Amino acid sequence: MPPQLIDHPRAMHDFVRAAQRAGKRVGVVPTMGALHAGHLSLAEAAKKSCDVTVVTIFVNPTQFGPNEDFTKYPRTLDSDLAALAPLGIDAVFVPQNEAMYPPGYSTYVDPPQVAELWEGQFRPGHFRGVATVVLKLFNACPADAAFFGAKDYQQTLVVRRMVEDLNLPIEIQVLPTLREPDGLAMSSRNRYLSAAERATALTISQSLQLAADLIAAGERTAATVLARMHELFARAGITQIDYIALADPESLQPVEQLDRPVVALLAARVGTTRLIDNRLLSPLS
Ligand code: AMP
Repeated sequence: MPPQLIDHPRAMHDFVRAAQRAGKRVGVVPTMGALHAGHLSLAEAAKKSCDVTVVTIFVNPTQFGPNEDFTKYPRTLDSDLAALAPLGIDAVFVPQNEAMYPPGYSTYVDPPQVAELWEGQFRPGHFRGVATVVLKLFNACPADAAFFGAKDYQQTLVVRRMVEDLNLPIEIQVLPTLREPDGLAMSSRNRYLSAAERATALTISQSLQLAADLIAAGERTAATVLARMHELFARAGITQIDYIALADPESLQPVEQLDRPVVALLAARVGTTRLIDNRLLSPLS
């Protein structure tokens, strides 16, 4: 059965409540569409642990800055629905902008502290938009569990903290980043890349591998690892680096010594395409 298409928050809410009244556990997978295997892995995980699965597709204007790619962000609803069809998803929530942000809309979530650094610094207002839309999606689709990708590592911390701080009755599950066979993290924005840029973009995952290798070989000084990562970017001709960081996996504060688990986080532009990636690194593994 193809999934039911639902475009209004009220109808979405009623659908979820009816399922829950029938004793079903409901899972939701929030996305902006242009679905790839990474998104589908979240939908499959939701399917596995829930009786009813909802995928949301909404390109949320409030999380894009004025000079970002909101208007050109890929909108591929037909192929998204085709990709979801074999998975046995129960409903796809596809609200219009006007249903989410009607005239007069003016309420926003002030995101938690963990939103301040990294993406928060280079995309001012981004996490305010993310926190707002995630809360709105959770209200429209009051599922028992929500599924997010570790690809957007800082986003998972923002969402988890918001859920805890605001006592939202939803379980957050975070699933691993799906990668292309050569290591490039799957992303809807990869389709902006030319063939040459696609090859250059490999530097991103390679730099994370380099960091892992250096730590495995005993390097414990963050500055040394970061310098080697920057070198790799310089050699590939990637000059527009927003940040390359080694940070505490919970607070995201930068660390100097690599004597405990850290997360490597980075954002850089390949051509005009801004890509992010991350990897958890442990001196013990
Ligand atoms: P987006 O459509 O980019 O907002 O992503 C929707 C969800 O899919 C988010 O929770 C992302 O973290 C997750 N996601 C994006 N890319 C990947 C990937 N390569 N592997 C796993 N999850 C992903």
